[in-house]
Amino acid sequence: MHHSLLLGVFMTTGTGTLFVVATPIGNLQDISPRALEVLRSVALIAAEDTRHSARLMQHFGIGTPMTACHDHNERDKGERLVARLLAGDDLALISDAGTPLISDPGYHLVRQAREAGVRVSPLPGACALIAALSAAGLPSDRFAFEGFLPAKSHGRRQRLQALADESRTWMVYEAPHRLLECLDDMCEILGAERRVVLARELTKTFETLRSAPIAELADWVRGDSDQQRGECVLVVEGASVAESEEVSGETLRVLDALLQELPVKQAARLAAQITGERKNQLYQLALDRGTKNA
Ligand code: SAM
Repeated sequence: MHHSLLLGVFMTTGTGTLFVVATPIGNLQDISPRALEVLRSVALIAAEDTRHSARLMQHFGIGTPMTACHDHNERDKGERLVARLLAGDDLALISDAGTPLISDPGYHLVRQAREAGVRVSPLPGACALIAALSAAGLPSDRFAFEGFLPAKSHGRRQRLQALADESRTWMVYEAPHRLLECLDDMCEILGAERRVVLARELTKTFETLRSAPIAELADWVRGDSDQQRGECVLVVEGASVAESEEVSGETLRVLDALLQELPVKQAARLAAQITGERKNQLYQLALDRGTKNA
């Protein structure tokens, strides 16, 4: 056997695995049997908040020891955890809810583990942004996640300006007490008509998904204080490519007429010949229009 291959076999058998385990975002049943098995069998669970996760462990009768690994101690803690992995222990990383590293701690530990040559294996599961996108009814073939917007108005407005021409569907996490301010800023910067889906309390008793133009959505939230509680994701429709003034209205008319009769690829090629625009750009535009009109 080749020397480096031998070494690889030795390393994967000699060292432990870091399992990155998604936990529920509300409904406790949203955890996979495999995730429970891993949480039961590892030597140690690194949790964002051990007290918070104790409830989950108790619910499923899991007695594995836990240690705190959060934003404030992750770098130091990471070194010690990697030493245990190198010594052969399997570990699991969890956060308070959903998928670790997604607006949650874990990045430094995963990075340190990978740099040390430790196997890192994901156990996929709940993630609020993916759950919101999957039910929002906005184009999902390409999308962007912006994490939390800045908490202060000035920073938030700057970020919104930078996102105004984004043509993909994009998502942000927002704290309930800032939801209304955020929608008002969006209304001003993205325009009252841009569609936004508010996905609130997903998988929980008061789960709500509401899709409306921003101004309407903001009025609805203003009029119902219950909507300003709980956890939420905002899914924002991308700017239409026509809005971001990349092609003329005439080109769009040609493309739309051809799309009525022909498959996307042919329509884009012919539209490019007729209008002199780039074929690739029209192809992408044709795909976007297909999903928006669907
Ligand atoms: N790691 C998590 C994930 O995979 O989604 C996200 C953690 S982040 C600190 C918490 C934010 O996620 C909340 O402020 C909210 O924006 C969103 N979130 C979490 N659970 C949610 C739920 N059940 N419904 C809607 N949004 C949720």
